[in-house]
Amino acid sequence: MEVMIGLEVHCQLATRSKLFCSDSTDSRESAPNENTCPICLGFPGSKPVVNRKAIDYGIMVATALNSNIARRMYFSRKSYFYPDMAKNFQVTQYEIPLALGGYVEVGDLKVRIRRVHMEEDPAKLSYVGGDITNSKYVLIDYNRAGAPLLEIVTEPDFKTPQQARAFLEKLSSMLEHIGIYDPSREASLRVDSNVSIEGGNRVEVKNITGFANVEKALGYEIVRQRGLLRMNMKAVMETRHFDAATRTTKSLRKKEAEADYGYIFDPDLPSITLSEASIKKVADAMPELPDQRVARISGSYGLDEYQAKVLVYTDKNLADFFEECCTRYAYKDPPHAANWIINYLLKSLNWNMTAIKGSKVRAGTFIEFLGLIDSGTITERYAKELIKEYVDTGISPTELAERNIRSTPKINLEEIVSAIISSNRQAVEEFKGGNARALQFMIGQVLAKTNKQADPNAIKELILKMISEAK
Ligand code: ADP
Ligand code: MG
Repeated sequence: MEVMIGLEVHCQLATRSKLFCSDSTDSRESAPNENTCPICLGFPGSKPVVNRKAIDYGIMVATALNSNIARRMYFSRKSYFYPDMAKNFQVTQYEIPLALGGYVEVGDLKVRIRRVHMEEDPAKLSYVGGDITNSKYVLIDYNRAGAPLLEIVTEPDFKTPQQARAFLEKLSSMLEHIGIYDPSREASLRVDSNVSIEGGNRVEVKNITGFANVEKALGYEIVRQRGLLRMNMKAVMETRHFDAATRTTKSLRKKEAEADYGYIFDPDLPSITLSEASIKKVADAMPELPDQRVARISGSYGLDEYQAKVLVYTDKNLADFFEECCTRYAYKDPPHAANWIINYLLKSLNWNMTAIKGSKVRAGTFIEFLGLIDSGTITERYAKELIKEYVDTGISPTELAERNIRSTPKINLEEIVSAIISSNRQAVEEFKGGNARALQFMIGQVLAKTNKQADPNAIKELILKMISEAK
């Protein structure tokens, strides 16, 4: 069955002040409603002034998305009655958005961009004792109201929830590289997902935070809509809410039509002409984008494309970390570093539920760790254990390895092997009878006794030698 998915992504731009006033956008340390003023609260007579930085950020993103930037900027009022906007309208762009068209390549899929526009963020509503469908009452915090948002709308070019997720991962990496958004801030990327099947009505699932949740919400919605079709019913055009706890969607309201919003150009905000020179200046100052970075780091460090992509798209800071190991600390074998970062460092970080930034891992100590493996001071097997302790504590790996050697009594491998052989006669007989797994079993037993510090190949040699000598 033909599935069509289109996304609307709202990105909070990391400017210091709001879109039309000088209040701070960073309210992490503020009391509710502290960062507000007559402008973002929409008092009669207050005069908004556009934040030029936010426009420049928007131009950068539109450029990265290959969109056509309008030469004249207009803002419009979108009227609706809801407490998250004190003015009863939201300033947004409608008739003429910042940019139209464009595309992003995600693997083999070329995702077309429909439009990119700027708007002000509404207030944050806290639903006390429930969610939007059943809470007892709602608290409103206008600190967020008026923060600059960039809305990126795609064409319905995705066929699976996985493609939608891959696009979001790539897009967030692009935004991070452009340096206009802070992924560590709460809800800095919010996604509305639209789904339809078999040419049926489109259903919009609103305000999903987290890419894994977008994938889940879409997965659920496809199953639900297929179920309706099977019963000869149609999905109605509506807006739904994703409940992360139950992984299901619930109906919120019938989809409003454009006409319901009564858009008008905002008379308080004059249009702004963007000169060719000002657009070019922003485009010229554009930092390296993820695709360029993948090409550069795979070329100059000899990584395969897969490694480079994981480093760049997982988290910009991870790619920065890798480059720091290889340039500032001149680590000699970049593919080896990439391999350990991708396969083991990431796993330990995920296990500790932390990202590289904000963890105790540093390039200086990490290359020390790699050095221990390269010099044969520790076995790879032991390194896979050691890295967990290192990520946990951030203590120098050399020091950790020494401590562990001191605290474990010196291993006498011969003694351990001989003990395992004599207490596992049956396994020895099975091995002699041609059962290779019996040998693996004994190697495992010995390894466990040495706290995984011995080299499995050495153990194997020793077992074979002792068995043959015992004949
Ligand atoms: P609205 O504000 O009404 O949601 P937008 O133009 O902002 O309208 O967004 C429409 C979104 O819906 C786009 O992402 C678009 O790709 C998507 N879309 C449009 N038609 C379909 C469809 N038939 N199935 C799935 N998604 C669709
Ligand atoms: Mg929309």
